[in-house]
Amino acid sequence: MTTEKRAATATPEALHRIFTIPEAPDSTLGRIEKEISENLAGFLGNHIAATERALTDIEKDFASSAIPEQPSFVSDHTHHLLDKLVSQSVHTSSPSFIGHMTSALPYFILPLSKLMVGLNQNLVKIETSKAFTPLERQVLGMMHRLVYQDSESFYQSWMHSANHSLGAFCSGGTIANLTALWVARNNLLKADGNFKGVAREGLFKALMHYGYQGLAILVSERGHYSLKKSADVLGIGQDSVIAIPTDENNKIDCQLLKEKCQALANKNIKVLSIIGVAGTTETGNVDPLNDMADIAQEFQCHFHVDAAWGGATLLSNKYRSLMHGIERADSVTIDAHKQMYVPMGAGLVVFKNPASVAAIEHHAEYILRKGSKDLGSHTLEGSRSGMAMLVYASLHIISRPGYEMLINHSIEKAHHFADLIDARADFELVTRPELCLLTYRYVPAQVQDALNTADENSQEDINALLDQLTKFIQKRQRENGISFVSRTRIEVAKYNGRKVLVFRVVLANPLTSKAILADILTEQLALAQESKTFLPQLLEMTQ
Ligand SMILES: *Cc1c(COP(=O)(O)O)cnc(C)c1O
Repeated sequence: MTTEKRAATATPEALHRIFTIPEAPDSTLGRIEKEISENLAGFLGNHIAATERALTDIEKDFASSAIPEQPSFVSDHTHHLLDKLVSQSVHTSSPSFIGHMTSALPYFILPLSKLMVGLNQNLVKIETSKAFTPLERQVLGMMHRLVYQDSESFYQSWMHSANHSLGAFCSGGTIANLTALWVARNNLLKADGNFKGVAREGLFKALMHYGYQGLAILVSERGHYSLKKSADVLGIGQDSVIAIPTDENNKIDCQLLKEKCQALANKNIKVLSIIGVAGTTETGNVDPLNDMADIAQEFQCHFHVDAAWGGATLLSNKYRSLMHGIERADSVTIDAHKQMYVPMGAGLVVFKNPASVAAIEHHAEYILRKGSKDLGSHTLEGSRSGMAMLVYASLHIISRPGYEMLINHSIEKAHHFADLIDARADFELVTRPELCLLTYRYVPAQVQDALNTADENSQEDINALLDQLTKFIQKRQRENGISFVSRTRIEVAKYNGRKVLVFRVVLANPLTSKAILADILTEQLALAQESKTFLPQLLEMTQ
């Protein structure tokens, strides 16, 4: 029997064969393995074609809800996957895909991921993850040290201590932020006298006991939407996440933050947490963390820093100071699957105080017993994969100076791109990069001149048309499939705080060259000329 026939009949023998390692891999799978291990970029380039099909068309390839009654040969199914799935996938690792935080991965990740999946360790408990549990604790220790720079003896005392945790590894920034706020909530509304704590008795009784009229979470208007989700899940309510206005550099206005804290205190609403953003998702700016730490101290509340995107900047000695004050945070979120080039599913939160996670401790009889070192007693998620291994491997293989080079290059490339935009008369830089993110739009020189002198009404008319033109160009560019930038809407001070549609660029792929950046602008310029309505109207309006 050939290996091709391994699974096409649902018999006990065939199924047994599926779970035993084949002597020779199935030919199609074998070919894919060989291709991706020898030339992943080539494989992706050959198989992912720019697809002009609309999403609703692609949905037709995934239309049946029936679970197959007939098994498939592995090779047949693999062909199906290549055809329908791979070929229509988004080429996130392409150097001209500069629109999102999901980018290229180092080549060694692929074989190591296979090792991780093969071992299939479950990090929830030691019984299924001996070796991986200490490894994950070490990774949390390394990331904690990156933020807080405590002493060697601090890490020797706490890194492997059963009743402490320097942090929690999780699937991403969303769960990391939720975990941080969960810890903050449970520590604030802890057991007290007859009251058994919010974890046991719930929010309503907790507020009654402590005599608060409500809780609030304060973050700049650039805060990530995961904070609202967290407030929702924790029973605090989305409306309790209060957006504080930002200054012209997209950083939280500390004066307004302080006034809000005072106003809430006067109404007996307790601030659960002040959250600083270190690298906003839309513009990449960093809040004045040190000043925010002062305010959190003054109002006695938890200070969390959402550094999901920007946290990796701490690996750069040159730019680390941009995060000044982060070491005063009670908790910090960092996504390894963003600027640390680890695949998705690698987020983490670290806590300044290794004892603070006791507030969310959970036990069960068959696992997570009291005093055990099971990681699951301090994580929201239960079963979890050994992703920490990929962070561990990357930190060793790339090393801190290697990461520093990557981070520095990204930031400096963003500055170069900003200069390029500034130098072109037909483009307007909207937000200057602090990290490796920037926003801009296409605005013909003549239109820029008109905008500068127009009254508020005509400014509005011009901007409304520009919004449509930006959207037109961005969609065309995506459909062309040569390059990709994303788009978002942000308030622009010089247009009286109007929300303007802009291109958003994230320059994290080390292979994105200066030539590619120049080409992207040239392509956008050409695409703009294809607009049969917006551009002609704009030019006519501003003659
Ligand atoms: C990406 C991001 C998040 C969410 O992280 P996920 O990994 O997507 O869950 C939260 N905050 C900021 C600032 C981010 O950039």
